[in-house]
Amino acid sequence: MLDTPMRLTTLLAIATVLVLIALLLDYLHILRRPWRPALALAIATILVGTYLTLNAVLPTSSFYGPVIYQGSQSDKVVALTFDDGPNPPYTLQLLDILAKYDVKATFFFIGQNAENYPEAAKAIAQKGHLIGSHTYTHSDLLKLDEAQIAAEMAKSVEVIGNATGTRPKLLRPPHGFRDPLVLQLAKEQKLAIVQWSVMAEDWKKPGTEVIADRILGECFETPVYCGH
Ligand SMILES: [Zn+2]
Repeated sequence: MLDTPMRLTTLLAIATVLVLIALLLDYLHILRRPWRPALALAIATILVGTYLTLNAVLPTSSFYGPVIYQGSQSDKVVALTFDDGPNPPYTLQLLDILAKYDVKATFFFIGQNAENYPEAAKAIAQKGHLIGSHTYTHSDLLKLDEAQIAAEMAKSVEVIGNATGTRPKLLRPPHGFRDPLVLQLAKEQKLAIVQWSVMAEDWKKPGTEVIADRILGECFETPVYCGH
């Protein structure tokens, strides 16, 4: 147990128990003098819990371990990444646009999709795009146990490797969620965690103009954040 890296859920469970005990002590007027230390402990624990959670869900945080979320700061480059595919016919339409502008991107495949659409997966890889894993079923890794997380990674790597002929070396956890155990297991499977610095939120279907504004606005108005 102690050899296993901590889970966020475990830390939050401990924090919740601590908060409840502290609030109870305060309510029962135990530890109330001279300045209500139990209540102060409860508030401090809530703040620590919030901090630990934010660092597990914010894409650019390296609090639990290194993640890649932007490229070189000195070169004027952006890295385009697309998640959740392959989803024919849309992913293949995207390939035509990328080819038209001679742009290479990185696609983070869901293993199940690569398994369902191996031809599409292969076509994307053959066009010279980089392929990463986005787990096998797109599950929230914070809610899975160690064996399930390891299987999500290993199975996706296997089916993507079978479809494309190349074993992926990059992993984007679904929603970017990770904790110490997720990072440890990714390391064991030789997968580097890749996050992002700008998000289009295109799945909310806001329209192409809004999507372009989000990407271009954030990239060009806040260049440091965007890896320019
Ligand atoms: Zn996703």
